Amino acid sequence: MALKQILMNNSKRYTITAALPYTNGPVHIGHLAGVYVPADIYARYLRMTGNDVIYICGSDEHGVPITIKAKKEGISPQDVVDKYHAIIKKSFEDFGISFDNYSRTSAEIHHKTASEFFRKLYDEGKFIEETSEQLYDEEANQFLADRFVVGTCPKCGNEESYGDQCEKCGTSHNATDLINPKSAITGNVPTKKMTKHWYLPLEKYEKWLREWIVEGHKNDWKANVLGQVKSWLDDGLKPRAVTRDLDWGIPVPVENAEGKVLYVWFDAPIGYISSTKEWALREGKDWEPYWKDKDTKLIHFIGKDNIVFHCIIFPAMLKAEGTYILPENVPANEFLNLEGNKISTSKNWAVWLHEYLEDFPNKQDVLRYALTANAPETKDNDFTWKDFQARNNNELVAIFGNFINRVVVLTDKYYNGIVPEPNEFSDIDNETLEKMHKFPSIIGNSIDRYRFREASQELLNLARLGNKYLADEEPWKMIKVDEERVKTVMYVALQIATALAIVSEPFLPFTSEKLKKILNIGAKELAWNDVEEKEELLYPNHQIGKGELLFAKIEDSEIQIQLDRLEATKLTNISENNVVEPQKETIEFDDFTKLDIRVGTIVEAVKVPKTKKLLQLKVDVGIDIRTIVSGIAESFNPEDIIGQKVTVLVNLAPRNLKGIQSMGMILMTNTPDGKLAFIEPENDSVANGAQIS
Ligand SMILES: [Zn+2]
Repeated sequence: MALKQILMNNSKRYTITAALPYTNGPVHIGHLAGVYVPADIYARYLRMTGNDVIYICGSDEHGVPITIKAKKEGISPQDVVDKYHAIIKKSFEDFGISFDNYSRTSAEIHHKTASEFFRKLYDEGKFIEETSEQLYDEEANQFLADRFVVGTCPKCGNEESYGDQCEKCGTSHNATDLINPKSAITGNVPTKKMTKHWYLPLEKYEKWLREWIVEGHKNDWKANVLGQVKSWLDDGLKPRAVTRDLDWGIPVPVENAEGKVLYVWFDAPIGYISSTKEWALREGKDWEPYWKDKDTKLIHFIGKDNIVFHCIIFPAMLKAEGTYILPENVPANEFLNLEGNKISTSKNWAVWLHEYLEDFPNKQDVLRYALTANAPETKDNDFTWKDFQARNNNELVAIFGNFINRVVVLTDKYYNGIVPEPNEFSDIDNETLEKMHKFPSIIGNSIDRYRFREASQELLNLARLGNKYLADEEPWKMIKVDEERVKTVMYVALQIATALAIVSEPFLPFTSEKLKKILNIGAKELAWNDVEEKEELLYPNHQIGKGELLFAKIEDSEIQIQLDRLEATKLTNISENNVVEPQKETIEFDDFTKLDIRVGTIVEAVKVPKTKKLLQLKVDVGIDIRTIVSGIAESFNPEDIIGQKVTVLVNLAPRNLKGIQSMGMILMTNTPDGKLAFIEPENDSVANGAQIS
């Protein structure tokens, strides 16, 4: 009771936000690993430690990409966002993401909140109003900004930078900054046309941002976040338009602004506030302390592509408004790749959450665990299905599941599922229990520092502790010689199983629930700190429930289905990108007969030193065995092509390549993924020197 009291007094208020998913596609594992899983672990942990927590999210439904998608599919932007909002919301629920509220930016409460926010800044003169020349597509009859325009990034030279942001270097800029801009709608070179917009003068906040983040948070924000922020500030900030000429979005709430809407990156972060309001209305709470009380900790979970918006633009908006708190931390993650390639919605190179949930029913925790154990916290990481399988089979099944299974089976077998009364503890018992009591603070410490990967490995270490204890004590052998000792051993093992049920909840909520049921303890009966503070978690004579497997082995065949699906995606993408060169100009038959093309066999192959592409070959072309230098080293290892049948142009004038006289040319073609392939006769009996005509 006294401890609970202290805990309540120490409890803090947290507003945790997760980046609003953009509704032009479903959610994939990259989003989950970068944002939603770590934020969910954090929120669940803080709730369990007695804090006042709201975990807020919603669909981001405005902006240019949605209008482009709608145009392509011949439906309205509202149809696009309705479709994906439903898929995303349901997949999050099924996956156990514990949002307190999931809203959407097309909701009325958001339109009202964002309009009022803009209007307040407008009335207080916080914007610059400017009529200037903007890019315009005469054919489409439309101003070009954001993704309506592509061009060369002024910073890194990427030729496919968008109007608002370069995806290659992460720089955010205005469309007019692009070099050689082109309309993404028609491909035309845009003209310029006068139009009026409102700008947030970011340069006015530069000094303050530097003091607040670069100086003030240099010790507690992640290095990747600080690095990006510092680089933008060093480049110098410029006024940033917060309105657009577009018909999809929140109308600019001032007179003479017809046909203009708020820039999606102005309205989206305000979505966190409107989602909080929606929650408060439903729950009969006051929303304001969660956004305006200086004792509230505001934490934004985002991916690295959103750092500029959450660390520069949104804070500047909040500072300009004046009544809001600022984020305490923005623990942005790096990117997760899939099987070695960048995840891409447009290329369908992704593992989609709603599909995963269908393919692996009741295995939410396996994906949660695999993504956490391999989270891209400090650098880009790679998700592979083999790693996913190994995490499940070698860690969740073999360590966590195995320990629980042994404890439950033995308790059932020896004591009909009743927790035995322990005898005197041995040194090993005391040490083991002492170690167990430390795990909540070890794991909590990692979570507090946003090191979810490390935290997940500590969770597994608790299961390892239990496994090792059983393996050392061997109750299954001891039962024959010392029944009293086994009571103590099983009592200790049951304490560890209970500790696992509690501290696994933020990471493996479905497993934690199952395990509590097996142990027959209430969902909220024990708090996080109880594992540390209570001498005894499960009392003697307590009846536990029936055993049930927590995790099942994932077979190679299940993994193969996923790999095959990705392989099929790869082939589809290749055939869609298949460019066939146009036919060359007509030649006469005599031109062709000049070519002496023969079948040959490679008899020797070595790399040409100091070159990347060249192999020196000895080829038997029937006439003789000759040296040919061929640029195929990037596609073939020399040792693999000895004995390869090839087609050779034998009467090509000798050429000197890297000091080697090359007497002919091996004819090659290309595979769709850019590798070289030999041309060989389909019949093996064709001899060296046979002519091709
Ligand atoms: Zn760039």
